[in-house]
Amino acid sequence: MRAASYVPIDTARGGEPASAGPTPRVDVVAGAGDLPRVDVAAIPDGPGCRAGSVEAFRDSVEGRGHAPSSPHDQPQTMCPAFGSLRVGLRMRRTATILCGSACCVYGLTFTSHFYGARRTVGYVPFSSETLVTGKLFEDIRDAVHQLADPAQYDAIIVTNLCVPTAAGVPLRLLPKQVNGVRVIGIDVPGFGTGTHAEAKDILGAAMLNRARHEAEQGPVQAPRGGRSDRPTVTLLGEMFPADPVNIGMLLAPLGLAAGPVVPTREWRELYAALDCGAVAAIHPIYTSVIREFEAAGRTVVGSAPVGYDGTAAWLDSIGDACGVARVTVEAAKNKLLPPIRAALANARIRGRITMFGYEGSELLVARLLVESGADLPYLSTACPRTRWSDADREWLEARGVKVQFRGTHEQDLEAIAEYKPDLAIGTTPMVQKAKSLGIPSIYFTNLISTLPMFGVAGAGTLAKLMNAAIGNKPRFDKMSAFFAGVGEDAEDERPEFREAYKRRIAAQAKQRKAEEIG
Ligand code: SF4
Repeated sequence: MRAASYVPIDTARGGEPASAGPTPRVDVVAGAGDLPRVDVAAIPDGPGCRAGSVEAFRDSVEGRGHAPSSPHDQPQTMCPAFGSLRVGLRMRRTATILCGSACCVYGLTFTSHFYGARRTVGYVPFSSETLVTGKLFEDIRDAVHQLADPAQYDAIIVTNLCVPTAAGVPLRLLPKQVNGVRVIGIDVPGFGTGTHAEAKDILGAAMLNRARHEAEQGPVQAPRGGRSDRPTVTLLGEMFPADPVNIGMLLAPLGLAAGPVVPTREWRELYAALDCGAVAAIHPIYTSVIREFEAAGRTVVGSAPVGYDGTAAWLDSIGDACGVARVTVEAAKNKLLPPIRAALANARIRGRITMFGYEGSELLVARLLVESGADLPYLSTACPRTRWSDADREWLEARGVKVQFRGTHEQDLEAIAEYKPDLAIGTTPMVQKAKSLGIPSIYFTNLISTLPMFGVAGAGTLAKLMNAAIGNKPRFDKMSAFFAGVGEDAEDERPEFREAYKRRIAAQAKQRKAEEIG
């Protein structure tokens, strides 16, 4: 069943084979003259641009309540532009240019290379003068023209960070394409973007919007492997590499196939993503991307095939969205659900867990934990609540889980104090804090996000990891006992050192004076 405004996507054109081409060297793609000197000493110590305030943290620890957000009045996560930067850097034949303060660009490129980007990031620097005179926009436009080689690129993504966005550098005025290379300009400021997951949504929607308009004009490139002979379900949200395959195995009995994962790895996949029977919003934070799919007349389904209940409900929803006969859906459930139930029964989690994350998949992981037998009293995500997370939230709340959207570090600390978990799953500062309290803990991003989640492959995968981590408690107790008292005493002033240092400074001053006179 199609909505009235369904836009057909004609992917008949075969298209030439695309290759990533040689890695370009574009460090500074336009000059900005002398950068202004910054008096570092004049900058007061304080939290980073996305950290919670020091006062709020102290208040929380000392039981005086908490402030809900960072100085940017946004969740306390990494710079959100990292999300869109990562999406662009993963795409074939796509160049990326950042425009922002040098320190921000340094941090972003460092982190992207830390995560193995292996691509050059273009940078257009600025000074106060180029910013206020509009020269910066001209520098960006020059950089785009310099890079736009259709032999190497399908698209160039230009990202305004905090300062150029605040100054209103108008990326919308960039040419839509140069030499046939698409130019996509996005603003991803820390003060206007919640999390790095939501920044992926900004870039994903900008690209999908362009691809949709291109498809409306006429035939577009077919997918690299050709079109599927069955209706496809586009998958929304980055996931473990085997998960699209696992989801495909769940869709096959319905006569459907797994379509591309959005954000895509190549421009032409955007057309194939639009050319689908339905969209599965596996990660519910992609609201702008969903608007693009809805504008193309596609039906969007929330939640995901996670655990027993989640898989059953998801198969029903996908069947409805794609017009699959009820009897076929029931037959698929009869075939697919018993092995999931068996896998969950054979891999039980024993212990109390609290979980904190900012990826957008937290509620799905929580469902799997609960179905695996974990006692999960508290789940916190830095992402916002959307209508696409409602089904998962309701399922969790019905099982006694407190679900905290836009959770803060301070709230998470309070949760640890209140629930005293056997295991804390969380972000870097949370894991550090939990470990310092002698609580076993694991990173959400590095460990949980790298496991299969869906169908029978996902059921039971968490248990081994969770039980092993919980089993580390005696080691934490041993370490806590060994280091007991270290760093907890009142600061030892050592006045004799202070006096000796004073005398040395005075002697040096005296010597300098003598040299001046001499
Ligand atoms: S771009 Fe904004 S949010 Fe990102 S590091 Fe710079 S100041 Fe912070």
